[in-house]
Formats: sequence, C-alpha cells, structure tokens
Amino acid sequence: MILAYRNTALVVIFASAVSIVAAAVPVPENVYTQDIDHSVKPGDDFYHYANGTWLKTTTIPAGQSTFDTRAVLTAKTSQRVRDLIQDAAASKSVKGRITQKVGDYYASFMDQDAIEAKGLTPLAGEMAIISAITDKSLLSAYLGSTLNTEVDGLTANADHIFGVWVNQSFTDSDHYVFHLLQGGLGMPDRDSYLDPSPKVAALRAQYQAHIAAILKLAGAAESANNAAGILSLEIRLAQTHAPDSDAADVFKQNNSWKRADFAINAPGMDWDAYFKSAGVAGQPEFIVWQPSAVTGTSALIASESIDLWKDYLRFHLIEHYVSVLPKAVAAEDAAFYGTALSGTKPVPDRGKDAIAATNAALGQAVGKLYTQRYFPPEAKARAQAMVADLITAYRTRISNLTWMSPPTKEKALAKLDALKIGVGYPDTWIDYSTLDVVHGDAFGNMRRAEAFNRLLNLAKLTQPADPGEWKIDPQIVGAVIVFTPNTETFSAGLLQPPYFDFAGDAASNYGSAGAGIAHEISHSFDELGNIYDAQGRLGLWWTPDDLAKYHAAAAKLVTQFDGYCPIPDLCINGKQVLSESIADVAGLLTAHDAYVLSLKGKSDVVVGGLTGEQRFFLAFAQRWRRNQTEAALRQQVATDHHPPGQYRSDAVRNVEAWYKAYDVATSDKLYLKPEDRVAIW
Ligand SMILES: [Zn+2]
Repeated sequence: MILAYRNTALVVIFASAVSIVAAAVPVPENVYTQDIDHSVKPGDDFYHYANGTWLKTTTIPAGQSTFDTRAVLTAKTSQRVRDLIQDAAASKSVKGRITQKVGDYYASFMDQDAIEAKGLTPLAGEMAIISAITDKSLLSAYLGSTLNTEVDGLTANADHIFGVWVNQSFTDSDHYVFHLLQGGLGMPDRDSYLDPSPKVAALRAQYQAHIAAILKLAGAAESANNAAGILSLEIRLAQTHAPDSDAADVFKQNNSWKRADFAINAPGMDWDAYFKSAGVAGQPEFIVWQPSAVTGTSALIASESIDLWKDYLRFHLIEHYVSVLPKAVAAEDAAFYGTALSGTKPVPDRGKDAIAATNAALGQAVGKLYTQRYFPPEAKARAQAMVADLITAYRTRISNLTWMSPPTKEKALAKLDALKIGVGYPDTWIDYSTLDVVHGDAFGNMRRAEAFNRLLNLAKLTQPADPGEWKIDPQIVGAVIVFTPNTETFSAGLLQPPYFDFAGDAASNYGSAGAGIAHEISHSFDELGNIYDAQGRLGLWWTPDDLAKYHAAAAKLVTQFDGYCPIPDLCINGKQVLSESIADVAGLLTAHDAYVLSLKGKSDVVVGGLTGEQRFFLAFAQRWRRNQTEAALRQQVATDHHPPGQYRSDAVRNVEAWYKAYDVATSDKLYLKPEDRVAIW
C-alpha cells in the first residue's frame, strides 16, 4: 500500500518497506488501513482520510441516530456476555461454583412458569410486616430495613426513601463513611413531580393510574383512592429533594452529620429504630448529600398517617421486585415506565432483562468469566505497561509546564504519584461464596443478592479505605474516574480492539486507548480535578494565578474550535467544548510521548505501509469516528461538552509530530502556524 504523499522521499521509503515488510510481517488486526480514504489528503482533512471508507460503508442502525465504535463494542460485548451467561446456565455446574451461581441466577429469572406459579406469595412475609406497622417506631424500623446500597455518587434518586453509598470521606482519606442519599420517588426525578407543564402533569396522571393498577393486581380494595394518596405523598417528598443542579456541586453534598444530629436536624423518624434495623446502629458519622430531603422526609413521617405510609410501602415493595413477579405486574410496569415515560413501545426481551439482572446481582462473577475468556493476564500486563508509560510521560509534561506555579506543580506531581489506575479487571475479586443462588427461586435469589451486596458494602465501614477498590464491572464497556478516592478504572470491555489489542500493534494502542486513558488522567488535574487533592480530599490546590494563566493559555483553543462549522449555519461553541478539547490535546500529546518512551530508543518500524508515527495518529483519528444524523449532530453541538468526532480528531493539528508523520505542508488546510498550536498540558 502506497499513500499519496507529496513528499517523494517518503513514498519511496514506504514502497521499499512494503515490499520487504509485507511479506514477512502480517498487518496486525488493529491497524485499520482498510478504513482509510486515499482520495483525501491527510493534511487537508485527517478525519476523513483516516475514516472515509468506514464512514461511507457504515450505516446507522434503524431507530438510532448515531453509530460509532462505542456502539459496536457495546453490541459485541453484550453478545459475548449473553453467551457466557447462557453457557453457564447450560453447564449445570457444581453447586457453589461461580458458573452455578451465574447460570442459575439467569435460568431462574428466565423460568417464568415458576415465577407465574408463585404469584405474589414471595412478597407475603414482607407484606405482613408492613401490615403489622402500628406506630412510627415500627414504621421507622421497617424503613431502616429497606436501606440499600444500590446507589452511588451519580444517583439522584435511590430506590427507597434513602440510599447509602459507602465511600471514602471528602475530608478523611483513611476511612470509608456512610454517604446518605435522597430517594423514594417512583417517577425519574424531582421535576417529574413539580413541573406544572401540561405534558408532565399528564404523566403524573398516568403514574397515578399505574399505582392504582399495581395495587389492584395486588388485591388492594381501595386502590384508586390509595393511588391518589401515594402520588400526593411522593409530590411532597419531591418538594424536599435537592434540585438536580445541586447534584453537580460537591460542596453542597459534603454535609457531615453526627449520629445525634439526626434527631435534632430531622425530627419525625425514630432514628434509633431506623439505623438499628439498617444494621448500622454504631455508625458515628454520616455525610448527608441532601439535608433538605432527610429533614423533609422525616417530617412527613411525623405528619402523615401510618395508613398512607403503609400504602406507599406496599406499592413500592411490588415495584422493587417487579422483575421477578408474574407477567401481569411486569406488563403494567412496562406500560408506564416503557411506553408512557419514554414515548416508545419497547419490545419485551426477557433474555436481555435476565442478562442485566444477572450482571447487577453478580457483576464481578460475570466479569471473572468474561476476562477468563477475553482478557487474559497478558492483556492486563500490556495495558499496565502502557499506563506506566503514560504516567511517566505526564509527569514530565507537568514538570515542564510554564503556566503552573512551582508549588502547584509539586502538588500535581504528588497527586499523579498517588493516582491509582486500574485496567481490565480487579487484582482481588469479590468472594461470592456466602451468596446462595437457588435454581428455580428468582425472587429469593434477587433478595439474597441484594442482602449480600449490602453486607459487602456496609462491612467496608469498619475497614481502612482502599483507594484501589474496583469501581466498574470488567464486562462493561466503560471507564470510571473517581476523584474521591484518587482513582481511575478502565474495564476489560473498553480495552479491546479497535481501542486496544493486547496482541496487536503498539503504536495503534497508544494512539487510541492510550490517548483515551491520558485524556481521563488529565481530568484529575484540570478544572474537574483541581478541587480534590492527592488523597481525594476536597480543597482547591491551584492558585488564582494558575487559574488565570491556564485560561489565558486556553484562549487560542477556543478560537480554534469557534472556527469549526460542520454545517454552514452550525458552528461549534469553543467555550462550551473547551475543557474536553484541552483534555483531547493533553491525551494526544501524553500518549505520543508515552509511545516514544515505549520504543526504548528502538526505531519505528513500518507495518502495512505505515510508520509507527503514522499508525499512532491514524488510530487516534479512527478513535473518534461516528456516523450520525443531522438532528443528532445539531443536538450534540447545542448541548454536549464533547465536540463532534471530526474536531476531536483535529487535535492532531496541535502536535508537531503529526506534521512530520504525514508530511503536512503549510498550504494544507489543517496546517496551523507553530505559534497558533496549543498545548495546555
Ligand atoms: Zn473528558
């Protein structure tokens, strides 16, 4: 393969290299030369050069508005996970093994005849407890028993009135603390209850009808009246919830309450009874994310009748377990949550629901099966080696910054040294040996799995904080940055071709996954991460002068992006995409430095007609490819902090090595004068 470069010398090098190398070395799978459009000159439009053939030959699936690498990987990984779980179910493994637990969890969820035969009897025990509530102490004790750990820092509405997230404190990095979050709403968020617009008011009416229908299925006599009462209680709960805008402000969430503060700040709940039945009677300290919700909910416990609360609890008990209850209940739920709320008519897919439920209950067990098949230890070792190069490269870049003051640099370097980056799968897996999964008992399995995960999380409260704690299941295509603690995790599901190929070409790995990981690393140090220190404690560690110089340095990037117009009447807002664009350039520069480091002084080889430098930048541009409808593009430009893929790919314009690799001339359209190129990090 010979590329149409202006520089004749380069073409000659390629031509001879191809004839020698192509015979001896097969092109690694993660060098996607077949996606290149050779009719486009790299220096004029690098994105369409790298992706033109892919963009032209790929169609957006029916019913969707975008199609990109993430969508491809998500579909492929879902299929792999589905196969793994179904294989586990078919294997009839020995009781107690993780394949038995995974397989039987799935098979029991799929056994709708067994679920149908039991009707609502699995709920009878808990329904009897609710019926026996005669005073506010018993009510408080029951509510405590529902305190669950299904929430995390990203949840705005726990499934029960409160949710707990066990995580490191915002001020003390040595201990886990009890983060208490608002919850208890059946509609998605606070606005669903408070928005007076006719459209949302109509949804509330549909929700009320849904509550009545569920209660009727459960045999409640006064279902219509009770539904009106439950909706009115939820509206008053919603009025006490913190608005979504507060959810982005960590300083508003960092409210430390001692155990004794609850009775003073939030009278109404019998807090002794609540925390005792929640299993945390001795917990001395809490971080209350939304104090207004805790105070307000507690006041409603005092002011509202026991009977109203019991109706509310019966309805939510059914809702919580709806996935493992008879079809009539599930169909009613789908009619509201699927059709009414989303405006679409989802096609029921029990198999998909069963996979999701199994993943939710036994995430790391499924993850272990996934990595055993698709992400072996050598994949992890290779990803770790790349991360080590990225960290070394970023350390040098921080040391060389001109806008950051020396004392701030010291803090940044300390933070980089403390940053824990997990790749692929955890070093220590969750031990599921005490979780009993019983064939044919879908309800019991869900209940036991919830109890298991709750105990697992609450047990952390007595252990030292582990900054290396694994934050995302390996089989999910994704990454998690957590500032508290100072950690980032990249799953095995994400670290696969085309992003990362453990048996493939290093230049492409560094240009694709490497640039992505380095992008995220930079967020721990930029305006997202600069309010969390090396140990993840809250506190701004930049000086006002650092901030001013950073913004001054970024001004040229705003100008660069303001000049991008994908459609004549649609231009990018440079300020809106600034922080992500800074991270893209940082990721690219750092990954390139890391790639050079990885060569350890050896020279770059030619593979598939491309030098390592060329493959590095090609993989970077291919990372961002996406086909989308014009409506989706307009929506992205209007609301997203990430610019469209073409302009993310154009980060190469700021990197000297790209000009050399592709012999970009001053007359090429993407050429930027050296003084107009931007490197913040
Ligand atoms: Zn980002």
